[in-house]
Amino acid sequence: MFSIGLTGGIGSGKSKVAEWLAEWGASVIDTDQIAHALTAPGGAAIEPLRAMFGAASIGPDGALDRGWMRERAFADPAVRRQLESVLHPLIDLAVRRQAERAQGGYLVFVVPLLVESGRWRDRVDRICVVDCDPATQMDRVQARSGLTRATIERIMSAQASRADRLAVADDVIVNDGSTDLDTLYRRVLQLHQDWNACASRSVNGRTTHG
Ligand code: ADP
Repeated sequence: MFSIGLTGGIGSGKSKVAEWLAEWGASVIDTDQIAHALTAPGGAAIEPLRAMFGAASIGPDGALDRGWMRERAFADPAVRRQLESVLHPLIDLAVRRQAERAQGGYLVFVVPLLVESGRWRDRVDRICVVDCDPATQMDRVQARSGLTRATIERIMSAQASRADRLAVADDVIVNDGSTDLDTLYRRVLQLHQDWNACASRSVNGRTTHG
């Protein structure tokens, strides 16, 4: 199925964009949601994480202690790699299962760290970047979450830069501080129509060429 990799920094507006695309009939697979489910109480990653990082990594509710894990993964790249060695195969498996069941006109993989990881570039037909200035990202994330400015800054500085993302983008959705939701909506609708057209061309192409 024709596929889009949707990415952007924290607070750029990926979830908002994905929500509309799903409403209009795309099949959206959100790798962040998958990671959350895997690390929720009873999630498939919990026991492997407990084995790797010890009992302190799991909170009293049985979920991964995100604050604990975030501190360590940020401080030490080796810890980050260990965490990824548990999560990535489980995420890939869940993604494959969801993709096999997908019914929509085309597939959208929401991948926050698409540019950073490099694992995704060859798996999608087009990369779409939601582009936003850092000050607006900070304001949106602060308004949405209880995270401190210092924590948000740390997350943002560990993510790819705006320029790095734009360098790999096939499509760009500008959603900066001067973009109102109406303008965003119209831009996303236009891309949705383009992608539907691409999707039907690629289906026809396969049919024609056997
Ligand atoms: P991401 O998934 O990239 O972290 P979200 O889609 O969750 O970002 O957007 C972050 C927050 O900013 C959400 O509360 C969203 O509703 C809000 N938001 C996104 N774009 C706009 C915009 N153009 N105008 C106003 N609020 C926005």
